[in-house]
Amino acid sequence: MAKSKQRYRNIYFFLLFLLISVPFLAAQEIPTAGFIDGTNGYIGFLPGNMPLVISIPHGGYLMPDEIPERPCVNCSKNQDIFTLEIGMGIRDAIFRQTGHYPYVIINNLHRTRLDPNRNISEASDGNKNAELVWHQFQNCIDSACSEVESKFGKGLYIDLHGHRHLIKRTELGYLLSNEELQLEDELLDLDSFVEFSSIKSLVDNNLNRLSFSQLIRGKDSFGSLFEAKGYPTVPSRGIPFPDSGEPYFSGGYNTTRHGSSQGGTIDGIQIELDEELRRDMSKRDKLVADLACTMVEFLKIHYFPDADFLGEMAPGNKQP
Ligand SMILES: [Zn+2]
Repeated sequence: MAKSKQRYRNIYFFLLFLLISVPFLAAQEIPTAGFIDGTNGYIGFLPGNMPLVISIPHGGYLMPDEIPERPCVNCSKNQDIFTLEIGMGIRDAIFRQTGHYPYVIINNLHRTRLDPNRNISEASDGNKNAELVWHQFQNCIDSACSEVESKFGKGLYIDLHGHRHLIKRTELGYLLSNEELQLEDELLDLDSFVEFSSIKSLVDNNLNRLSFSQLIRGKDSFGSLFEAKGYPTVPSRGIPFPDSGEPYFSGGYNTTRHGSSQGGTIDGIQIELDEELRRDMSKRDKLVADLACTMVEFLKIHYFPDADFLGEMAPGNKQP
């Protein structure tokens, strides 16, 4: 009897040990186990092990009482519907393709409560709880980018959004306006424009010595790689710039803060997916796989041609 009790006790302690230690041990090797959430789960941080950081600021659903609706009148409070699901899908798709995970930072609060793609005063409108969450969100991106910089030397940051513009196309923001993008390549390639762009570091140091204009709308630009999979995208080879007066998001607070316009070797691109694309469940899996593939291709072509963390050569890069 006593022996049996002892055995059960041993099993109990063994299970307890597993319960406590496995997540910790696993977190050392497999970043999926390391989901860290901030105050009340408002922020989600999934560590990665490749030089790609993805943030999802406007896909959250939570509307807790402790953080009331932002009182601002002219601020945007629209949720970027399904960007959270799409972003998490991209993470899994990249793992399936490469065996490695990008870093992912999620704001789970609804945009009526917090807008983490704004400076702190506009983001939280003076609410102290919201300010705390804003800091957690930004700090998670900061630490992910610092880790990428120290481990890989350079990398890519994506701020994932959704727009509701009437023109159904994907918009990529590099901190350039419609009018700037309308300039001829020779003018756009001048330092005065490159200097303020969110991929400044890549222009200074890319494997194929491509110019700025080639990197944003040439054959191997992110826009053209995505467009080749069936998605109209601006800027790209097909749509090199938005016309004057056409709706277009050029990149916001996060792309400015975490891209390379202000220094460092992490480049930033704001991705804005149109609403129809985000809502179409019949095409969701393909969309997620194509976005994942485009991110990996872009990293492979311009940053890390032979890196094992990017897996086999992506299909889109096999063409001559
Ligand atoms: Zn957004």
